[in-house]
Amino acid sequence: MNDRFSQLRLEGVSRAYGSTVALANMNLTVGNGEFVALLGPSGCGKTTALNCLAGLLPLTSGTITMDDRRIDLLPPERRGFGMVFQNYALFPHLSVYRNVAFGLQMRKVRRAEVRRRVSATLELVQLADHAGKRPGQLSGGQQQRVAIARAVVVEPQLVLMDEPLSNLDAKLRRDMRVELRRLHRELGLTTIYVTHDQEEALSLVDRLVVLRDGQIQQVGSPEEVYRRPANAFVAGFMGYRNMLPMTATPAEAAGGELRLSGLGLSLTGLGHVQGPVIAAIRPDDIDLGERDGNCIEGVVEEAQFEGREYELLVRTAAETVLHVRTHRHTTLGERVRLGIARDRIMVYPAGPDESPEQDSAEPLPVQAP
Ligand code: ATP
Repeated sequence: MNDRFSQLRLEGVSRAYGSTVALANMNLTVGNGEFVALLGPSGCGKTTALNCLAGLLPLTSGTITMDDRRIDLLPPERRGFGMVFQNYALFPHLSVYRNVAFGLQMRKVRRAEVRRRVSATLELVQLADHAGKRPGQLSGGQQQRVAIARAVVVEPQLVLMDEPLSNLDAKLRRDMRVELRRLHRELGLTTIYVTHDQEEALSLVDRLVVLRDGQIQQVGSPEEVYRRPANAFVAGFMGYRNMLPMTATPAEAAGGELRLSGLGLSLTGLGHVQGPVIAAIRPDDIDLGERDGNCIEGVVEEAQFEGREYELLVRTAAETVLHVRTHRHTTLGERVRLGIARDRIMVYPAGPDESPEQDSAEPLPVQAP
């Protein structure tokens, strides 16, 4: 049933709704068996891209091919992709078993084979004991597992998932991530997964595609996107909460220096960068104490206990407020010294588009569990 392709290719894919360009000239190649996330904030075009792949939306321009076969003009049923939606979309009047068997029966698979495959898939999603129940008798997590089983049982060439975990509570979401990874490992189905949750994307997939306003910002492994965001937008989205407007001054030697009235950071590898820049730093890359010769003094303005660590807001002498994560307990008003490792400061050119949202009095974030 599964004619394995070797490459799925989107070339110049665009989709507009009237004058709104939801997807602009998207180019992406996905290899067989890959698990890829389309990641970005609300409205960036993730769902549009997924629906174009599924055949639910025609392209405004561009092509989608599987190896040499053009598929973007095929109706959804001829593409035969598996889909998992946020809202499960199960048949309420059918049992779990029949929901999962449906796709196989439509494909006229022999009865014994249907039985074998449905049982194996229910086993895989740990629902073998619930085969006779209706969806309404299951929890949200169990219903989503039925939806996933239904999508994968036919071993489609491509599985498309649109925020499948967003209706589940935090603990279940974490458990389901583990299950999705295991399922992907065991079945090896090419999967494209839409989410706005960077933590979820980082923990799940082999490759991330970060979108903004319908345009790809970066494609890379979770480690690459997390450690080396391609631009200030990606950095901000990936949790570099400190986006500091600074001025880079050229280095006499190999390093370089960043200055922001009173806040001085030195770092290596600044190269030829000069003038206004944005320095992006993750809260967990700032610690109490000196690091690499970088030391900033400030006063603890807010402290929030987050289980293992504290999230602090520290106001520096230059009136910059830094987000800091630390193991150390501090008290409000305490004077602290902060250190930032040189290789953890990302520097981007400051453009009109990259204006940082340096928040001075913003409340501490509620961490996604
Ligand atoms: P979300 O995470 O909120 O679902 P998304 O990243 O999936 O967002 P899309 O739903 O793909 O984003 O929407 C991309 C852009 O296209 C948005 O600006 C949206 O307002 C617009 N858009 C989406 N669907 C339509 C439509 N049917 N008619 C007009 N504009 C639309």
